[in-house]
Order: sequence, then C-alpha cells, then structure tokens
Amino acid sequence: MTERSARVVTLTRFGAEPEVRSVPLPDVLEPGAVLVEVECATVCGTDVHAWRGDLKPDLDLSEGYVLGHECVGRVVAFGPGPQEDTLGDPLAVGDRLVWTGESCGRCPECTGLGEPGLCLRRRGYLTDPSSRFPFVTGSFAEYAYVYPRAERVRVPDEVKSTWASAASCALRTVVHGFERLGRIGHAQSVLIQGAGPLGLFAVAVARRAGARRIIVVGDPAPRLDVARAWGADIVVPLSVAGGQRAETVLDATDGRGPDVVIEASGSPEAFEEGFELARIGARYLSLGAVGPARARVSPGVLNRKQLTVLGTWSASARHLRDALAFLAAARGEVDFDLLLSGDYSLDSVGAALVGMLEGREVKPVIWMAPRDPGA
Ligand SMILES: [Zn+2]
Ligand SMILES: [Zn+2]
Repeated sequence: MTERSARVVTLTRFGAEPEVRSVPLPDVLEPGAVLVEVECATVCGTDVHAWRGDLKPDLDLSEGYVLGHECVGRVVAFGPGPQEDTLGDPLAVGDRLVWTGESCGRCPECTGLGEPGLCLRRRGYLTDPSSRFPFVTGSFAEYAYVYPRAERVRVPDEVKSTWASAASCALRTVVHGFERLGRIGHAQSVLIQGAGPLGLFAVAVARRAGARRIIVVGDPAPRLDVARAWGADIVVPLSVAGGQRAETVLDATDGRGPDVVIEASGSPEAFEEGFELARIGARYLSLGAVGPARARVSPGVLNRKQLTVLGTWSASARHLRDALAFLAAARGEVDFDLLLSGDYSLDSVGAALVGMLEGREVKPVIWMAPRDPGA
C-alpha cells in the first residue's frame, strides 16, 4: 500500500455543497480492523436527511464528517487478528466487503437483546469526524475503515458491487423488517407505501415471499415502473386523490384492506393513511421514518382493528448476509440494475443529493475517481 491519503466528501454545512477533502489514512490498524478501498458507493435517503440536518441537527460540523454509508470496498489491509468475516468465512486482500458501524458488544441492546444495530454507543457514520483517527469513516471516500467490532460480510462473486452497495443499507433494512414481520401467507395482500429503494426492495422481497397481491402507492412514474417490473400488481400514483387511493386499495383487497402494510416512504401522512387502510388484524411494518416528524393516528383504530405495528432500525450481520443471498438468488428474475440511477464521482456528490431530494434519482452510484499511486 503506497497511498497515504484519501479523498473524502465531508459535510461542513447543512444543505450546502459538500466539501471534498484529503485526509490521512490510518497508519496503524487496530486488531480486528480492516482498511478497504471503496469501489463504489450508493446514496441512501438517510444521507439526504443527514446532509440537510434532519438527522443530527446538533452535529458539530467544524471537524467535517464523511458523508455516505452504503458502499462496497476491496480489502487492502488487515489489523492483527483473524482474517475472516463476521460469519466465519475467510477473507483475503482484494475480497469485496460490506459492513456495518461498530457496536459496543457490551450494552443491554448488544448483549441482552442481541440487536447490535440498536446499540447507543455505535461508532462509524456521523459519530467520528474526518479530523480524527481513523479519518475515513464514511462511504463517499476513496478508502474506508472497518472498525474492529463492525460486522462485515464478504460479497458473493455473483453479486454486482452496485447491488451489494444498495444491499448494505436499504436491502438489509428491508430484510430485517420482513424478519420482524414474519411469514406472509400466499392468500395475503401487501400494501407498500413508497417507491424509493426501501419500497422497491420490499416489492421484490414480498413477491418472492409469496404474497398474493402487491399494491404500491408512490411516485414518481419511473419508480412505479420499476415497482411493476419487480412484482407489484397494482401501482397507485400519489397524484390520485386520497379518497380515490383508498378506494383503489380496498377494491384490490376484497373491500377489507391489506393484510400487511409496509411504510417505506418516511412520510407521516403515509403512516396515517396506512393505519386507516390496514384491514382488521393486519400487521403494519414501519421502515421509512428516521426523523422526529409526528403522525396523528388513533389508538382506538389500533385497538379496534387489533393491529400489530412493528418498528425496524438498522440491521445485523445475518440481515446483510441474507440481503446478499437474496440478490444472488433473485438476480435471474429481478433486474436489480433498474434501481440504479445516475453515475457520479466524489466531486459531484452534491448533485446526487439534490437529485435524490428532488425525486429525480432513485439510487445514485458514486464511483471513486482514479488516482495516481502514491499521490
Ligand atoms: Zn452496544
Ligand atoms: Zn441508509
């Protein structure tokens, strides 16, 4: 390894053009850590929230946080310790990897609940700035640091890097959500609210889980086309007025409403609508919301319909593994390339974020610019 520095895209002012900086690479890797060269990254809706200041409005930006948390990297160097992924598969220099932030491994969430994704002492994206070791803490960067206790999974050869990058956050979250949801019966109907990456992956997973009918409410039209291609039976644009939307969903579900509702838009209004549309006894899975926005829902409706409402946050190594396995298994039937929208470089991340914000992009791909060795 001859490089000693890496270009990274940093958040220095909410909503402003991100700044590309050069930061040092960590010269010593902690035991269990891995340094990877990022092959490509994808933009997550959470990155847009982080960039606008919705996610962590109190973040001290003076030190520059590296944006981005979805990517695939190739192993460049290992810290001391076993060279294997979290699931025990051997790892070698050059292998492709996806990984999570680092959880502490000692708190009630990590140990008692067995949910490292819920750890409050998690380190990585937006917790460690680019001004301090290990410097390369986000995915919009030439290199990235996999923390010692971060869960990491080797990417199977048959899975494209761009798909695996999208799996590293969006699809693994969907896989986690479906695990929370439990079995979807072959007689059951599923309403998916939102046609972004979460909603679209939810369509693909629900289809393969055997759902009888899948309805998607969302926008814009090109995303609804992908929803159809990936298995949605009925798509309803948001331009259809609320009352008419409800009628369409009820018509498609024997007049009773969907058995399963999946909120994948992050919109409080969608959450409210989902409550009203869910049939008696339905399960409601919430995937999309990350910010503090509130929804007005009725506890009486919750009880009268005896709804089961499930929250989902982040995911663990088994969800990453299953997300990658899903991509490998479904690639003959699902054209995952349809999810990917524009191609960008580290210098045009700002445009990708704006494209996401304005709904022109579904899943932009950031390709790392070539650099001279030793520069
Ligand atoms: Zn913990
Ligand atoms: Zn994400």
